[in-house]
Amino acid sequence: MSFGQIQGNEKLVNRLSEAIKKGNVSHAYIFEGEAVLDKKAFAEAFVKAVLCEEEPGIGCGRCASCRKIEHGNYEDLIYVQADGSSIKDEAIEKLQERLKTKPYGPRNIAVISDADTMTLRAQNRLLKTLEEPAEGTILILLSENIENLTQTILSRCVKFRLNYFGQESYEGMMETARAVADLLLEGQPFYKRKEAISEIMKDAGKTGAFLDALERVYRDLLIEPSEKGRLYKKSQIYKNVSMIEQTRRQIQRGVAKSYALKDLMIKIGG
Ligand SMILES: [Zn+2]
Repeated sequence: MSFGQIQGNEKLVNRLSEAIKKGNVSHAYIFEGEAVLDKKAFAEAFVKAVLCEEEPGIGCGRCASCRKIEHGNYEDLIYVQADGSSIKDEAIEKLQERLKTKPYGPRNIAVISDADTMTLRAQNRLLKTLEEPAEGTILILLSENIENLTQTILSRCVKFRLNYFGQESYEGMMETARAVADLLLEGQPFYKRKEAISEIMKDAGKTGAFLDALERVYRDLLIEPSEKGRLYKKSQIYKNVSMIEQTRRQIQRGVAKSYALKDLMIKIGG
């Protein structure tokens, strides 16, 4: 997947792409997003965009570095992931040793999956690398919930939240969200709204994606006044967006996803 193919995150992709073109690449990033999201694919698309000389900021998909990243055999790209339920101190120690070796290409890049499962010792060890990174090194932390990372780690990384993406699934989720918005606009009762999101209620991993999609539907109504858009009061749209954001915060604080979603479906209006 190239950076340009990632849907649902256009703003973020454009911002990162422009920064890369200007040579403005940070040494540490956190990409936060739902478990269902292929954050590793996003990170790899980003790495391609950083390293590609044919299409900097995007990634051509054809040059040696783009192809090697795609096939998982780029020499300077190091992957770290949880061993069992956590990333242990030793794994970070090993990473640090590896980062001391000179890259074949322009830079060493590490992608740490499930970064929020790092033990406290592992986090403290990683901090040293974040404080004094070797020239050119990029650390990319992927996380489902950044609340589990220490403040000191968070303060040394550039943080971005990923929206839902995926080739077919993105449109599918937008369709569900549009259907729900229509039901709300028509003032349909709760049981109908619940029916419309039954698939999401069954699979809590999709909750964040649905919230992103629903927010998108309302934000689109604000930007492009359509025939449907005229049926809404602007104040109601703003209210709905803020309710969606509130639901997201509740979930971050540990409220069960299904409960938070049900609560939103009861309170939100059309
Ligand atoms: Zn390329």
